[in-house]
Amino acid sequence: MKIVVTGAAGFIGSHLAERLLKEGYAVVGVDSFLDYYPRRIKEHNVKGLNGKKGFEFVEGDILDLNLDKLLGGIDAVFHQAAIAGVRSSWGAGFDEYVRNNILGTQLLLEACRDRQLKKFVYASSSSVYGDSDELPIKETSPVRPVSPYGVTKLSGEQLAYLYFKGYGVPVVSLRYFTVYGPRQRPDMAFHKFLKAVVTGGEIEVYGTGEQTRDFTFIGDAVSANLAAFSSGVGGESYNIGGGSRIKLIECIRIIEEISGKKANIRFGDSQRGDARHTYADVTKAKRDFQYLPLVGIREGLTEHYNWLKKNLELYL
Ligand code: NAD
Repeated sequence: MKIVVTGAAGFIGSHLAERLLKEGYAVVGVDSFLDYYPRRIKEHNVKGLNGKKGFEFVEGDILDLNLDKLLGGIDAVFHQAAIAGVRSSWGAGFDEYVRNNILGTQLLLEACRDRQLKKFVYASSSSVYGDSDELPIKETSPVRPVSPYGVTKLSGEQLAYLYFKGYGVPVVSLRYFTVYGPRQRPDMAFHKFLKAVVTGGEIEVYGTGEQTRDFTFIGDAVSANLAAFSSGVGGESYNIGGGSRIKLIECIRIIEEISGKKANIRFGDSQRGDARHTYADVTKAKRDFQYLPLVGIREGLTEHYNWLKKNLELYL
């Protein structure tokens, strides 16, 4: 089987491509090296993939590539490509989000219309929910994004559903809840916290630190993709969380314990677009494809910390 992974030089896409190769699939990785964060980090993400048997890398933008050629002989698509991150999606930056997250997704779906795909797995986000009153959040909870980024991820998901309904593209959407671990994007909180502790810098916490998050270890997010590929139900969306909910400030305490260092914390203003609490009910993913997060926060943060220490120069 041959599989396309879009966003393959990114955090989640590179891990996913690695796992698929390990499982014996041929993988075509696509990435445009969007400069949202430095190219050298993304090149490092795919370093282990390039040259591996069964792996082909295509550098290019989904909006410019010949998609018919790209998708020829392909059995499935894992669509991870997007401009992620909430903060820069406000204001003038929105343009780029619409382009990459909405237009790119529509073009890809359109190119999948008349193909016999086994599955099209779309990387959605917990940001589609916004500030949910019901915790844990179920897939049936209202979708009311509180950031422009969330709006684009929801649009992508709705487009995916449209192509399932209209053309039978076997789409499954995975709503990831904050994914972390080695290679996490440098704009994300754990990366920044861990880096600050390693380098003796300051940790800026937006708000009081009392906000809670459901954190998903990268290995679990990747496993969810493979399981959804095999058994996810077409047209459905699934929460993919880490199975527990923790206050941000407690995560910093765990980081202090792991590193043996005291964190230098500064509390700043809470950020527009950040949901106050996220907590996934993963019953549906468990029911349909036996999703079970295996890595707890302490174990996952330890792995992330050790990896960052070893690869620190990439981020300096
Ligand atoms: P990332 O930025 O590390 O990876 C995304 C990759 O997609 C980047 O390398 C970028 O260059 C590429 N890309 C973007 N637009 C493209 C285009 N038009 N053509 C080709 N390549 C393009 O982000 P990530 O954290 O790995 O996120 C992967 C996916 O998961 C995204 O769709 C994101 O919205 C979603 N997601 C991530 C998280 C998380 O916690 N990391 C949470 C929820 C949802």
